Amino acid sequence: MPHSRFKRVLLKLSGEVLMGEQQFGIDPSYVARLAEEVKAAKDTGLEVCLVIGGGNIFRGISGAAKGLDRTTGDYMGMLATVMNALAMQNALEKAGVQTRVQSAIPMASVCEPYIRRRAERHLEKGRVVIFAAGTGNPFFTTDTGAALRAAEMGCDALFKGTSVDGVYDCDPKKFPDATRFETITYSKVLSDNLKVMDAAAVALCRENNIPIVVFSIREKGNLAHVLAGNGIQTTVQE
Ligand code: UDP
Repeated sequence: MPHSRFKRVLLKLSGEVLMGEQQFGIDPSYVARLAEEVKAAKDTGLEVCLVIGGGNIFRGISGAAKGLDRTTGDYMGMLATVMNALAMQNALEKAGVQTRVQSAIPMASVCEPYIRRRAERHLEKGRVVIFAAGTGNPFFTTDTGAALRAAEMGCDALFKGTSVDGVYDCDPKKFPDATRFETITYSKVLSDNLKVMDAAAVALCRENNIPIVVFSIREKGNLAHVLAGNGIQTTVQE
């Protein structure tokens, strides 16, 4: 049954969800489970773009804290997102989903370079396109890369699958009485500095009127629920 709400969506997964129960790296069995959820979404007729973070392997800022140049650390972080993209590509193809990885940093022997019109064609043919290496620039995050690609590809919404089931007024891990928002405006997220996505990503989505749906991907089957508008989530919109 096709989802009437959306034609094309971008799913952003933080790198940490690929770890499963591990402390770092990639848990192939967990990635396989995520791939099944993406397949189920695609089987409803949706066109799916994917962006995966790199925090499970490397964050530029953490490298900088230990003395590495920030730019060097950020490039290492971008390379980490390519590894995650390849892991997800592998899992999706095993699940029978056709995919292409396009990297913002060209690496011809590994994957395609990012070419918007080519990505468009892949999506039309029913392939899942995984956008790797963020924006290709240091000092950005994969959240901003996701917002950028969602705008470029004309996505109807950006789904951010993470470990938290939405946006709260304060950190739910520290404050048990924290309240989750059902909906919230871009402006409030920015003015209250709420930890949803970084400010550049939120501003880009606001400018292009792309709703951001924040939900927990840790709960099995949750992606299908939020896509259908039922699951626990927070929608950031105007
Ligand atoms: N990164 C970057 N430019 C980008 C995207 C990512 O420099 O456009 C680097 C940055 O160091 C970042 C790391 O790649 O910390 C991993 O991405 P991110 O932290 O967004 O991953 P996530 O938190 O989603 O796992």
